[in-house]
Amino acid sequence: MGIDYSKLQPVPTRDEPYHILVCAAHHDDIEFGVAGSIAKWIKEEGATVTYVIITDGGSGSNDPDLTRQQIIDMRIVEQNAAAAAIGVTDVRYLGYPDGTLTASIDVRRDITRIIRETKPYRVIIQDPTTVYVRSGYINHPDHRAAGEASLYAVFPSSETRPIFPELLDEGFEPHKIGELYMNLTMNPTHYLDITSTIDDKIETLRAHVSQLGEGEDFENGAKKWITQSNADGGKLVGVGYAEYFKVMKFDEERKSWYEEEQERMQAEAEA
Ligand SMILES: [Zn+2]
Repeated sequence: MGIDYSKLQPVPTRDEPYHILVCAAHHDDIEFGVAGSIAKWIKEEGATVTYVIITDGGSGSNDPDLTRQQIIDMRIVEQNAAAAAIGVTDVRYLGYPDGTLTASIDVRRDITRIIRETKPYRVIIQDPTTVYVRSGYINHPDHRAAGEASLYAVFPSSETRPIFPELLDEGFEPHKIGELYMNLTMNPTHYLDITSTIDDKIETLRAHVSQLGEGEDFENGAKKWITQSNADGGKLVGVGYAEYFKVMKFDEERKSWYEEEQERMQAEAEA
């Protein structure tokens, strides 16, 4: 079944301060996927943000003159610059080998530790159920592994005290998050109008020179592609530019499944 864009909700605004944790497999995943939203939540809602980059990015070049370590070092510099472009200064690198990531217990524990330490209200991850994206893209297996490890770090690991007792020994008590946002999803429930921050998003991408080139290469390549892609996303929901999420809520504002079903049936009856 395809996506019914007419049923997607705009992401609601939030008026109290909150922390966001963004988990992604690779350097540049956040910039392509959600940087417009992050920039907007920082600018317009005062959110604070931590990034977690799970792999070392060391497979990010086929240039035979570069060693794996040179690629890794270069990509950290680029990722830090991309984050700083929208005011994010807390970027964590877990350093798992790029290209062969699995949703191991070690990855789950590392993400759980950062959730317990930074206590986010909103966690953003890559949807682990996405295998194919429309007719032209096979989702990278690192994205799925990153999504799965992050999903199960959110629940049950971060909020359940006896899981990972070694984290208690390190001083990290359980933390229950309020919301989970999944990007790179084929089952979106919400969209965010990023028209006010599409330019900021482009600036974050510009930092990934080793991946996206610079000058004309960047202007005619990645910039053009992402601008068009987010404009297409916007057109489907009637705004200038949009990013999409599957949203789950765990806080007091969550609806009962009876309410959810009532709303779904109501919407179907109106369609
Ligand atoms: Zn990626």
